[in-house]
Amino acid sequence: MEAKIALAGNPNSGKTTLFNELTGARQHVGNYPGVTVEKKEGSYVHDGYNIHIVDLPGTYSLTAYSLEEVVARDFLVNEKPEAVIDIIDSSNLERNLYLAIQFLEMGIPLCIALNMTDVAEKRGIKINGEKLSTLLGVPVVPTIARTGEGKNDLINAAVKIVQKKRKQSNLEISYGDDLDRTLFEMEEEIRANEFLTDTYQTRWIALKYLENDKQILLKGQESNPSLSAKLEKMVKKVSQHLERTLNTYPEAMIADQRYGYIKSIIKQGVIQQQHDQNRLYTSDKIDQIVTNRFLGPIIMLAILMGLYHFTFTYSEIPVGWLENFFGWLGDVASTHLADGLLKSLLISGIIDGVGGVLGFVPLIMFMFFGIAMLEDSGYLARVAFMLDRIFRLFGLHGSSVMAFIVSGGIAGGCAVPGVMATRTLKSPRERLATLLTVPFMNCGAKLPVFALLIAAFFSKNEAIMMLIITLIAWLGALLVAKLLRITVIKGKSAPFVMELPPYRFPTFKGLAIHTWERTWQYIKKAGTVILGISIILWAMMTFPGLPDSKVQEFEYQREAAKAAAGITIVRESEEVGEETGLSKEVPDLKNRLKVIDLKEAEEGLRNSIAGRLGIALEGISKWAGFDWRTNIALVGGFAAKEVVISALGTAYSLGEVDPEESDSLSEILAKTPGWSPLAALSLIIFTIFYAPCFVTVVMIVRESGSWKWGAFSMAFNTTLAFVLAALVFQIGSAIGILGG
Ligand code: GDP
Ligand code: MG
Repeated sequence: MEAKIALAGNPNSGKTTLFNELTGARQHVGNYPGVTVEKKEGSYVHDGYNIHIVDLPGTYSLTAYSLEEVVARDFLVNEKPEAVIDIIDSSNLERNLYLAIQFLEMGIPLCIALNMTDVAEKRGIKINGEKLSTLLGVPVVPTIARTGEGKNDLINAAVKIVQKKRKQSNLEISYGDDLDRTLFEMEEEIRANEFLTDTYQTRWIALKYLENDKQILLKGQESNPSLSAKLEKMVKKVSQHLERTLNTYPEAMIADQRYGYIKSIIKQGVIQQQHDQNRLYTSDKIDQIVTNRFLGPIIMLAILMGLYHFTFTYSEIPVGWLENFFGWLGDVASTHLADGLLKSLLISGIIDGVGGVLGFVPLIMFMFFGIAMLEDSGYLARVAFMLDRIFRLFGLHGSSVMAFIVSGGIAGGCAVPGVMATRTLKSPRERLATLLTVPFMNCGAKLPVFALLIAAFFSKNEAIMMLIITLIAWLGALLVAKLLRITVIKGKSAPFVMELPPYRFPTFKGLAIHTWERTWQYIKKAGTVILGISIILWAMMTFPGLPDSKVQEFEYQREAAKAAAGITIVRESEEVGEETGLSKEVPDLKNRLKVIDLKEAEEGLRNSIAGRLGIALEGISKWAGFDWRTNIALVGGFAAKEVVISALGTAYSLGEVDPEESDSLSEILAKTPGWSPLAALSLIIFTIFYAPCFVTVVMIVRESGSWKWGAFSMAFNTTLAFVLAALVFQIGSAIGILGG
């Protein structure tokens, strides 16, 4: 039988030596067609196989920067050798792996020769080949080409690859949030148009466009000029973005992330070596402290706590300004507009609804600023690296961590890109378990809900409460993931490697841009989607209104009250002037009238469509301590979680009649009977866990490839949320804590 195997590797890694060792005299030296790069071919008989071996030119990379790189790449793409042996200089592992992972990114059937093990040993470097093999998912064989040691094992491993004919799955490295998103978009275009896909693989083509690879760009422009231009435009856009925010460019970022990937392989115990402290780079020195087994987690918690403290403390003042502003706006509207539907829509629907959401803009901004700092500096990648050990216990991957963080693992993310971020997970099981649990994180929409409840009921311990909520969300997500991995998505874990890019000093400009981009998303959503839903919910909370007989009844009550106070009833036209006179003389009457107004407003809300729904649910929801108003908000929250706030705002504003006291929602909640810290905690728990918002469900269906997982997450999450909230509320009430 015939087999074609190529030898590849960095210059001076020992390719030619190994080639001669294998082929002996049976070799032929020529040139690659059309170029002056030497091509050595030979044959080797092994185990009934007549193996045809080609010695590829030595390269450090596979971008089309040099002739050697183009030749090596073209050979791999056009001749499709059944196996490629990558000869690695063990004494210089980090640099040599850079080429190896580029082969893996191309989906090349690879086998690694850890050559020069004698040199490495002399320098005190010991390499754990088995560990390396597990992490990369390819066979690794130690060799000494000069003496021929290990060459038989090496050929055996290569022949096994040839026999298996197994397709090597492409390695997908995460290139950071910005590039990853652009890559996904480009992949979609490439796939849809079958752009160069008969020769190259989809992600690889996109990556080469990002790397500005002249050869692929030329081929692309020839094959489909308009699509190529479109892709180039996408690259230009993300390049400008990287330039502005991180002061870098795609090729540098890609190289950083590849080295980050290698660094994380090496940090997982592949190299055992006495470190020479003086030779460590700054990044490594920082890592020794920051990812230390004991210090690491402490530093991580301290940083999180610091972030929450910073966010809550410093955002309090501007949040107060905004609350006052919307309160003032409501007062202005209330004094200048005539009573009626329009006034109610403006005040209760729009100002209280959307204003409630916009009021949290400063908090969101502070939080995003802090997160941008952690992300841009490279610290967030370390968090993922450290959490990997814990994640494995729960049947997930270290790379799941990034998806969790994108979804709001620290606070203020969004599950939609979070679900998309799971695409970098190789194993389908871990991926599914991750995308089903990322919606538990504290996304930017849930954050104001928590902030509101914390301000109303836990104002003394804001940062601590936020940390507790975050920990509950993570713990819940991990336990659910474990549950899923031992029931509906059973199966073995695949090994994985994460990227540890070098630390960078974030620039203020970069941070400001990142912060503003995300904040603007939030504001835009409040002004569009949330506004629309607020209006719909307002209508549902206003109509059909009270029947005439009821309105009449309240009117009689008012008259009766006034009559009882000994005042003659005046005509409506004089009422305004007359009432001020009244309140001075008979303060008691004013209060009684207020109570009647309040009752009427509440009756109206109860009788509305949303009110009836909320009341119907009260039979069950009372177990968790939710009244019908909260139910309305929670049902609305399925459309978008911010709506929980805006709907509570509307519900309590429709029930509020005192125009002189425009309390903020958190003040109103704190005063309303039936609410207690315990009820708030129960609502917080429910909000963490219940059905993902509509857009996330759509994304889950798309990414999991089945509507069943979307339905599952809605039903399962809501049930889980309810059981947990009810447990907290019932147990809390029974033992009488938190005012329950
Ligand atoms: P190429 O550029 O990859 O073809 O590398 P060569 O095969 O020309 O090897 C470069 C140098 O490394 C030569 O001097 C070899 O003798 C030496 N060499 C190759 N393999 C080994 C090895 O396993 N151990 C030692 N000590 N030297 C090696
Ligand atoms: Mg050579």
